[in-house]
Amino acid sequence: MSQPAFDFDLVVLGGGSGGLAGAFRAAGHGARVALLEPGELGGTCVNVGCVPKKAMWLAAGLAGDVAVAAQLGFDVPDTPALDWPTLVAARQRYIHGIHDSYRRRLDEAGIVLVPSRGQLVDAHTVACEDGNRLRGRHLLLATGSRPRRLDVPGAGLAGVSDDFFAFHAPPGHVALVGGGYIAVELAGVLQALGCRVDVLARGERLLGQSDAELVERLQEDYRQQGIGLHLGRELAAIEGGPGALRLRDHAGEVSGTYAHVILAVGREPNTSGIGLERAGVELDRKGHVVVDAFQRSSVPHIAAVGDVTGRAMLTPVAISAARRAMDRVFGGRDDARLDYDDVPTVVFSHPPLAAVGLTEAQARERHGDAAVHVYRSLFRPMRQALVDRPRHSLFKLVCVGDERRVAGIHLLGEGADEILQGFAVALKRGITLDDLHDTVAIHPTSAEEVVLMR
Ligand code: NDP
Repeated sequence: MSQPAFDFDLVVLGGGSGGLAGAFRAAGHGARVALLEPGELGGTCVNVGCVPKKAMWLAAGLAGDVAVAAQLGFDVPDTPALDWPTLVAARQRYIHGIHDSYRRRLDEAGIVLVPSRGQLVDAHTVACEDGNRLRGRHLLLATGSRPRRLDVPGAGLAGVSDDFFAFHAPPGHVALVGGGYIAVELAGVLQALGCRVDVLARGERLLGQSDAELVERLQEDYRQQGIGLHLGRELAAIEGGPGALRLRDHAGEVSGTYAHVILAVGREPNTSGIGLERAGVELDRKGHVVVDAFQRSSVPHIAAVGDVTGRAMLTPVAISAARRAMDRVFGGRDDARLDYDDVPTVVFSHPPLAAVGLTEAQARERHGDAAVHVYRSLFRPMRQALVDRPRHSLFKLVCVGDERRVAGIHLLGEGADEILQGFAVALKRGITLDDLHDTVAIHPTSAEEVVLMR
């Protein structure tokens, strides 16, 4: 009997969110699948991203709850202490549970897990570290991304977000460089957990992609919490030595001596050193795999999903894109593709900022000022009011046209992370402001503000 031309119908490079989702979906369609992952299963999200971040964010929220509880009469110590090792152990236990579950599911699905980096030898052949070669009829690139480092003097003294997850004790005074998702999230968590934090961002405001009005309020909140915001300042050098670092921008020194400096200035795709050039896979200027609307690379039987493509670096996006790509390749759904519009996101700041659709500025740019109608609700959630705290929530609807179609929903405040999902479905279905008004409010909640805004 002759050897089959291919060992597998699909060889997946990368066992993160996108690679795993693609492997499971392909196997579900009956494909023979091999998945290469040299590290822990789950990739960035599970190991050094969303999951451990959320654990720390939840703990940070509890720190705030303890203070509220004390004000409401609970007998708690004045300065409740956090035992970091206990928190980190619980977090890692949870993550190990995810690893186990993935391993079990791969086994059950008959997917061959190869604990190795893979290098393309040609457009169908992947070489493993032990010299073994796998021939795949199709390939899926899901190698993810890594934190970007800056080319400034002393940059080697700084850590990146991966290092945050290696802290086993409170890190003391921390400087975060960057004004995006990661800097904002880590700043909120660290400050709430009792550390001192400064943020150095080159933009005039944090979160350049988010709605400006909500960001302004979040910045006020952060300042009130004691976070030092140094905006409009670009890092020129890191000076000093371990445990006593100083930051310099082009205008001079930024106040503070830091135990740690963490760079959070974006992420770079993992596309070098894996032989993509030998297969003829086209990369863009920044090294991302160029894909079409169906996640196809320049080599039609090689698909790519997730951070490696540079499109909306979010776990659920990678998962959705991977599933659809595999439905197309192995499930006979030729038109299956992810619609990248109106993807809901949450910045897990303190409080969280949740958004779907257009910001006010984007709506004005796209539809013109006359067509854009903005509705706002600035309110104090009951929990804040009960203890007479000043923190307000700001919810905002961006509507367009005479029919007031809801084009953007922006929520800053307690519970925003959980409130948005359902409203994101509604926005995707093209609802109008009248549809929201036709919905009976749930009282008393923060969510009701979304259907009451006028
Ligand atoms: P972001 O792209 O969100 O932000 C990068 C920040 O770094 C921006 O403020 C940017 O400034 C700044 N920056 C870029 N280059 C330089 C430079 N040379 N010097 C100084 N500052 C610079 O990246 P993050 O690293 O925060 O996060 C990476 C991605 O991970 C996010 O974009 C997001 O897709 C994902 N993520 C999602 C989360 C979630 O969904 N909750 C949480 C964490 C990450 P400027 O705006 O001026 O370019």
